[in-house]
Order: sequence, then C-alpha cells, then structure tokens
Amino acid sequence: MIKVCKFGGTSMADGITALRVKRILDADPARRYVVVSAPGKRYSGDVKVTDLLYETAREVKEGGHVGDAYARVAARYRSIVKELSIGLDIDALLEETARAIEEEGDADFAASRGEYLSGRIMAALLEVPFIDAKDVVKFKGGNLNGKLSYSLVRKALKGKPRAVVAGFYGEDENGRVKTFPRGGSDITGAIVARAVGADEYENWTDVSGFLACDPRIVPSPVGIGTLSYKELRELSYMGADVLHSDAVYPVREANIPIRILNTFRPEDAGTRIVSTEHFHPDGRTVTGIAGKKNFTVIFLEKARMNEMSGFALLPLKVLKRHNISFEHMPSGIDTLSFVIDSSGLKNGVLQEVIGEIGKAVSPDKISVIENVALIAVVGHGMNRKVGTAARLFGAIARAGVNVRMIDQGSSELNIIVGVDNENYERSIKAVYDEFFLRDDPAF
Ligand code: ASP
Repeated sequence: MIKVCKFGGTSMADGITALRVKRILDADPARRYVVVSAPGKRYSGDVKVTDLLYETAREVKEGGHVGDAYARVAARYRSIVKELSIGLDIDALLEETARAIEEEGDADFAASRGEYLSGRIMAALLEVPFIDAKDVVKFKGGNLNGKLSYSLVRKALKGKPRAVVAGFYGEDENGRVKTFPRGGSDITGAIVARAVGADEYENWTDVSGFLACDPRIVPSPVGIGTLSYKELRELSYMGADVLHSDAVYPVREANIPIRILNTFRPEDAGTRIVSTEHFHPDGRTVTGIAGKKNFTVIFLEKARMNEMSGFALLPLKVLKRHNISFEHMPSGIDTLSFVIDSSGLKNGVLQEVIGEIGKAVSPDKISVIENVALIAVVGHGMNRKVGTAARLFGAIARAGVNVRMIDQGSSELNIIVGVDNENYERSIKAVYDEFFLRDDPAF
C-alpha cells in the first residue's frame, strides 16, 4: 500500500505544524512520499512565503539584489528550523538561495524557492531523501509533460522507501525553472501519486474536506463525504478552492482516489474523491453548490440563425482575435449568447467586441447583461430525480430572484444559473436550503 501525501502552506507555516506533519506521516507506514508547499499564513493578515518571493523577484529586477522581502522569507525559515532542531545549515542554504535568485532574476525561479526550502527542511526532519522537482517534473510548450514527468518521478523514487518532493515547480525544455499556477503543489502531489501508482493521494490542508457550499454564505454547511472526479472538477472550477482543479487529471486517468484531510483535525473523515464507477451517491440530489461573480453575457438574436451553417464561427472568431475565452454558450433556434469573465472585457474591449460581432453577423438584436453571477448546482444525483429543475428554479423564485441565464451541462451533472451579482448570496442560500435542509430526513 502506497499513499502520497501533499501538505499545503498552512501545514508548513511554522515549526509546530511541521511536527504535526511528521506525526501524521509516522502514524501510517503507507504514507511514503510527501509533497510540500511553501509556508503559508500563520494567522489572518500574515503573508505567504510565495507572495514574499514574488516581491523578492521585483526587488531583484529593480535593484539587482534581494531586499526586505527576502529578509522576511529568511526569518520565516530560520524560525521554523529553530523550532525543529534539525541538522540543516539553514543560514548557508538561505545565502545560496539569495545568490541564485539574483542570478536567475525571474519570478518563477524566485517563487519556486519557497517549496524548495520547505522540501529541504521536511526531508531533514523526516531524515529521508529530498527530490528537487526541477529534476523530475518537466514542462513542454508551457504545459506539463506528463509522460516524461511520471517516468522521471518513478525512477527517482525507485528503491526509496520514503522521500520528500518539492511542490509547485518543474523545469521547461530550456532548462529553466517554471511554476504551475498558484496553488499548484496539488498538481505535483497528483503527479507523484500517478507516477508511483499510489493507492491513495492524501491532500492535507486546513479544512476537513469539501463543504456543500461556501461557509461564508451559509453558516456550517454539511460536509461532502464522497465526490466524483467530475463533480470535483465542476465545483473547483466554479470557486470551491480546496484543491487545484488541474490536480484531478493525473490521478483520474489512473483511478487513484484522492482524500482531502485536515492537518489540524486528522481524525476527521474528510472528503474522498473517486471515479464515477466507484461513486455511491448518499441519496442526495445535489452534491454541492459553487459559484463566481462578475460575468458578462453577450446575447445575439437573428431570425433563422439555425439554418445558416457556420454562423457561430463568426462571433467566435471575434473572441479569438481578442484572445477571450467564454465560459458558456447557451443557444436557441434564433439566439446565441456568450458568457464571459468580465475581467477580460475591461478598458473598452467589450465595446470593441460588440462592434465587431455586430459587423460580422448583422444580428437583429445584440444586447449585453453585465454583473452576472454564475451558480453551479452540481451532482450526479440530479439526472435520476424527476422535478429537480422545478425545485431549483422554484427555490430561486421564492427568494425573489430573477434568473438571467440558464445552462445545463450536457453531462447532466450540473445546472448553471446566472443571476445578478447582488442576488448571488441570496440565491445560493435558497438553493442550499432546498436541496440540503429540505432533503434532510430531520426536516
Ligand atoms: N506556494 C504556492 C502558492 O502559494 C503553491 C502552493 O502552495 O500550492 O500558490
């Protein structure tokens, strides 16, 4: 039995939590390979080491040398090592790292040092080998080179009963360090799990798994015991940020279950993420609700649009020219709309896009709805139950909210509802009450 364990930033935030990590690892001999993040926040208002390292890269760019931000990074690591009393010459390592950041001079390299140093410390604490992710995680054309990375990780870990791998970064085809997007140590953990054919990928964080909706909107929502990879992808894409949404792919292809666990409450069951074949819904219609604000809907109407072949290509070409991706594209016989993240439409881009689409397709009508929030109602249970849509829209209507857009994913796994930004929280609460409180046997 092999488990790969990834520990997030809060689990590495100080010496005491690093010792908790060691205890968790020692408690189960299957926990053989460990992936670590850089130290995160110790308290609200604290600054993550990764953010300080991006600041360090700016300092180096401006003045050629590391400055105050790096001094804060160094102080964090010195205090962690002091609390652990391990035989690691942290001063020399920090000095060497500062020179390397000055020499390399780019943001990805600077940011990657957070995980590199965390990994060195954890390896010293556990007295196991350290694997530099630069040697085993490879990028090609800006994307992960999965095949090569799996085989290099496998080779590097072969014959090693335990080891620590630094998260978040790898090396591109030109030999330069490159990072994943923020939160990307989750992806490294998934790569290692896949490479060694793990029985489980344990992702240790500071919450006890996924909740059915955002606890800042609904106090104490129920926890999700089991999720499918597909449900996870939908929920994390739409803002449930417990796990990086790209971390799903490597393990999903190999059917390796993920378990989200809490370093600060290791006895909690957490959330288990499995393939659809192993998914046994607990009888709930909806598994979870997530959402995001600030979308724009561009709505087009043209009579007999359905008879014109290639019609949709024309507005899509305009979007492509502006390098804009769309989230959803609901359509009718004579209508077509695009739901787009508003952040890409600022500074006059929206007006340009509308003008160009107007010219390209001469629509009967073109209109724009701004400040739209999307709510994703996700669950395999929905397609087996009659009346789900009626309940969903009934709940939103009873909350006095007007629905601006609907899109049902073709997988029948999700229904996306667009409402005005100002009605976002109220709608989530209404949907939660309908599917979680009303469905509760104690209701
Ligand atoms: N340290 C990186 C970040 O803050 C990566 C990670 O923690 O997963 O985004």
